[in-house]
Amino acid sequence: MFLREALVKLDYPEKLQNLLLTPRREMSVELVVQMDDGQIEVYNAYRVQHNNARGPYKGGLRYHPQVDLDDVRSLASLMTWKTAVMDIPYGGAKGGVTVDPRKLSERELEKMTRKLVVAIKEIIGTYEDIPAPDMNTDAKVMAWFFDEYSKYKGFSPGVVTGKPVYLHGSLGREAATGRGTTFAIRELLKAMHMGKIADQKYVIQGFGNVGAWAAQLLWEAGGKVVAISDVAGAVHNEQGLDIGALRKHVAGGKPLAEFGGGAAIPKQDILLHPCDVLIPAAIGGVIGPEEAKKLQCKVVVEAANGPTTPEGDAALRDRGITVLPDIYTNGGGVTVSFFEWVQNLQNFKWEEDDVNRKLDRKMTDAFAALWAVHKEMNVPLRTAAFVVALQRVTRAEVHRGFD
Ligand code: GLU
Repeated sequence: MFLREALVKLDYPEKLQNLLLTPRREMSVELVVQMDDGQIEVYNAYRVQHNNARGPYKGGLRYHPQVDLDDVRSLASLMTWKTAVMDIPYGGAKGGVTVDPRKLSERELEKMTRKLVVAIKEIIGTYEDIPAPDMNTDAKVMAWFFDEYSKYKGFSPGVVTGKPVYLHGSLGREAATGRGTTFAIRELLKAMHMGKIADQKYVIQGFGNVGAWAAQLLWEAGGKVVAISDVAGAVHNEQGLDIGALRKHVAGGKPLAEFGGGAAIPKQDILLHPCDVLIPAAIGGVIGPEEAKKLQCKVVVEAANGPTTPEGDAALRDRGITVLPDIYTNGGGVTVSFFEWVQNLQNFKWEEDDVNRKLDRKMTDAFAALWAVHKEMNVPLRTAAFVVALQRVTRAEVHRGFD
């Protein structure tokens, strides 16, 4: 496990290690939903609160058929380290429902979301635990969440982030994870003396919120995105895809792979497509040892949560391929969630430029902290990120005391 390596470097006593590794609270519930046709379905749902030494628990809600408690547990712990690396005053949590949302009507999805709120409402709150979007959940789901919670607890925009901009959301939140990823890439290229964003070829796995925004912003900065995939297919163009046109094509409901500005490739080949910067921006566990041996890139930038397995990571290390870890790379999302929450507490709306500038600053500062540890301790960037995070969380734990 990745964290162990950092814990060994820090030489923490075993009791402290266990304290840092164990979630504070786990909730498993069943959501009983009456479907449009009158049938009753039961969905398993979870909220895991990993650590709140640095501030309220924070983390997204995932709707996915493969979600289970173990999954949510490790994603919750990643949030603790992510908020610490980004130096925002939160702990870490995660929620999930084992469901394939594509099989539900909008009405059914809304009912299920409202049932989830009722089930977990006593353990969340503006200063307790603040959910947000994650895989297959978006601003619309967050609006239902905010509405349902407010029915029980009174007007509470700060109980959830990633809300629509017109419903107490923040400008720049939707693009934030993709934008943060491009800032992260800029900093990494600079540190590695690889030149500018415009000098590189990119391959992106995933065309959801994170992948599509990263593609858009890299393309706007002059980068060549040579291949992209989504759940159904993949497309490539060695001259660089016109991302503006591709987004319009997909928004029009057409399959990504049928985009006229490129040629289709098998989606399982996306990670092996030659490029400078490979950006997994979809599900976890996609780069195992077999893939790692065959990747044709200089750096892997983890926009998804947990895309590289420990064995995959070891193989990439052996090959000298640099990995920019998820807990830093995709930290832009939760960072702008924090900005949204601050705006909710202030009852004030910031301008988008202001949000983006503050995000840039956060990504740049966090990179400097992990690069410094990477150099000083001579450890990979992932270990460096965990070292930074562990030190910050431990300092908070210890200085708050244990009484
Ligand atoms: N789901 C996102 C993540 O994994 C955002 C979480 C948040 O904004 O709280 O970082």
